[in-house]
Amino acid sequence: MVDATAKRRRRPTRDVAFDLFVFGAGALLGYAALARWLTDSPMLSVPAAATVLLVIVMSQYPLTLPQRAGDAVIGFEISALVFLVLVMPPDGALGLWCVGQTLAQLLERPRSWRSRLFNIGITVLCGGLFVLTYSVAERYAPGMHELVALALACVAFFVADLVVTTLSLALEAGESLGSALVWRAVALPLLIFVAVATLGYLAALLQRSQAGWSMLLLLVPVGTILVAARSISDARLTSVRLRGLFEAATEAPGWADEQHIEQALVEQSHRVFRHSTTSWTTTPVPPGKDRMTSVISVDGRPHRWLVVDRASTHHGFDDADRSALDMLAAMAASTLERRRLLDEMSHLARHDVLTGLDNRAVFADRLEHALSYRRHHAPAILYCDLDGFKAVNDRFGHQTGDALLKAVAERLRVCVRPSDTLARLGGDEFAVLLEELGGDHDPLRVARSILDALSTPFTVEAQVIRIQVSVGIAPGQQGLSASDLMRNADTAMYRAKALGKDRAEVFEASMQADNMRRIQLQDELRRALERSEITFAHQVIVDLSTGRIEGVELLARWHHRELGPIGPDVFVPLVEQMGLGLALVDQAFTAARTAAVELARAAGRPLSIAINLTPDQATAPRVLELVTTMRGDHPEVPLVLEITEGTLLVDDTRTREALEALAATGARLAVDDFGVGYSSIGYLHRFPVRILKIDKSFVQDCHELRARPLVEGVIAMARTMGLSVVAEGIEDWSTAALIRDMGCDLGQGFLFARPVPLAELLGLVSTGTVDMSQAAALSRSRVARAALMP
Ligand code: C2E
Ligand code: CA
Ligand code: CA
Repeated sequence: MVDATAKRRRRPTRDVAFDLFVFGAGALLGYAALARWLTDSPMLSVPAAATVLLVIVMSQYPLTLPQRAGDAVIGFEISALVFLVLVMPPDGALGLWCVGQTLAQLLERPRSWRSRLFNIGITVLCGGLFVLTYSVAERYAPGMHELVALALACVAFFVADLVVTTLSLALEAGESLGSALVWRAVALPLLIFVAVATLGYLAALLQRSQAGWSMLLLLVPVGTILVAARSISDARLTSVRLRGLFEAATEAPGWADEQHIEQALVEQSHRVFRHSTTSWTTTPVPPGKDRMTSVISVDGRPHRWLVVDRASTHHGFDDADRSALDMLAAMAASTLERRRLLDEMSHLARHDVLTGLDNRAVFADRLEHALSYRRHHAPAILYCDLDGFKAVNDRFGHQTGDALLKAVAERLRVCVRPSDTLARLGGDEFAVLLEELGGDHDPLRVARSILDALSTPFTVEAQVIRIQVSVGIAPGQQGLSASDLMRNADTAMYRAKALGKDRAEVFEASMQADNMRRIQLQDELRRALERSEITFAHQVIVDLSTGRIEGVELLARWHHRELGPIGPDVFVPLVEQMGLGLALVDQAFTAARTAAVELARAAGRPLSIAINLTPDQATAPRVLELVTTMRGDHPEVPLVLEITEGTLLVDDTRTREALEALAATGARLAVDDFGVGYSSIGYLHRFPVRILKIDKSFVQDCHELRARPLVEGVIAMARTMGLSVVAEGIEDWSTAALIRDMGCDLGQGFLFARPVPLAELLGLVSTGTVDMSQAAALSRSRVARAALMP
């Protein structure tokens, strides 16, 4: 018998009709045989009755040989039929066979009614054919050996069973009988079938020789065969399952995406759990007799459910099936997880973590690609650098800075097309690669839309922040390499910055020369620092009432051998950009130590020494070391550290701790250029500041009605806070007098002394004071004038 277990659920009516027809024909035949036998001479021997029982038992232990088209199921009951045919009249044999098979089918539990009916029909019909073949051979070829007739009958039974069952399968699958039948796979089952049948022949021989009870001996080979058949079937099924699992395991690493994984698993599961359908669900479904489910968890959370349904009730799922399904599910889960990890990693490798834009590596790749594949339509690139981003970071902190970068990225995204590449190159630098140029998509237009997009202020973390951008445009040209283009865009961007920022400039060859100069300047600056060619000028700070010299401020100087003196306003930011800020401080402290000694000697008393520090320098641990050493070596010299407001605006613990550590050495912190920056008094409370230096622009405006109350207010406020006030940039006596009258203690400016090399200052310092008589005279006249006014 070939088992019809491969039947699927949705069936066309044609094959149902066929199955019912087979049953009907079988039932009719069985009924006829039984009826005839019963009316004739129903002689029932004990062995014959026992055979019916044997049919039932044996039918539960078939040999299942998995085949591609379906399972070949070989029932050993055929030996019982052989026995019956030999010891009984044909109609009796067929009748008992029919009873046995019907009972066997009814007792076989998990099986659909349709399948049972079909199986009853086919076994009875084939049994009929068997009896017929045997009887005809006996009658018409009397010389033929009984055994040969039986063998013929067996073959007829087997072939009929195979053909009819396969026909039923083919009808159901909508295939032709020819394609469903695999004759190659038939030989071995047929051989086993015939061999088993001979056991029935042996039993009949024993019955004829009146060896009644010795027939029981046959139970030994029958039992052995049944047990062996069960083990072989199990082993075959296990091997099929294992092969499926093994294939799945070897294929799993190649499953590309989620869809592929699902598809592959459905295929593999079909191989592992033959005659079943597999599906995926996103919600759990209850398992059942014909259904197993297994959850696939990714990242510890249920992701999908794998559901396997038996297409037909061959036998339900057993524990081995369930663990195989769990194994498949585990494989899917690990593959999904690995895929996800890979996706994440490749995303990280290609994207900027903060903004989600492409990163520098991807930009470089695309640019290379664009240059090599679009020779006729040269791409263009835009290099965008935010203006004043560092100040935002300093003022609002890095967290706000990051949030602003994200917001900027979002606005930039809107300015480009999907075919363009927008990348963050690092820090506050962005770049756009424009590939499909033409029409209204030209680089200048894109640059303008970028400038426009950033012109509206941002609201980031409840702060309204204005940020602008300088854009350098490098149009592609024949023969330019990726690095040429990047350099050109960078050069154009620098030109945009130099021309006042918040604008776009298109690269021109002449800019290259300027750029070269800038690079050259950086090189030379590096060398100047290495060779300690940066010197320090010294400018005195005087007491505005007495003219007494209180101290000096050190101001860096660089004399370029061709360009002449280059101001610290220009080169200090360059030094910082080059990451050499600390080398400069080292040299400032060396100069400060010399000045401390020489000035004290000249003045006969220690003078204060002031050193300028950028925000980065002020918070560097190296600077704390230098300050500590200097304080240790010259404790009598008051040391002033001038920091800008920008330093104080980064109100984080690191800055606060750094400044407090500096103050703890006994050095005094001065806020430089007070008034030009954010002029917030609030932060003065929070930091250990001792001195306020009013910016020269402020000081020089103090005669104007508008500025005057402001300067007065700042001085008064500083005094109430116990801060010393230094007025910078005093160039004339009237300013000196006015500022002093406003209550300012100290002054600094060209009026008293220009910043000069130390040696030139020693003469003035040795006198100890600056003549303030003119200021005093002015001040008196002002008081007199004030008194005359109504
Ligand atoms: P600053 O700290 O405000 O220094 C005072 C600046 O005002 C100096 O400019 C000085 O030459 C100038 N000045 C002094 N008196 C007068 C005056 O009466 N009228 C006018 N118009 N200007 C006067 P300088 O030397 O060009 O320095 C510019 C800035 O560079 C400094 O401003 C300081 O912020 C920075 N700087 C100078 N040396 C160093 C240094 O060693 N390290 C750091 N980090 N920054 C420095
Ligand atoms: Ca200063
Ligand atoms: Ca200043």
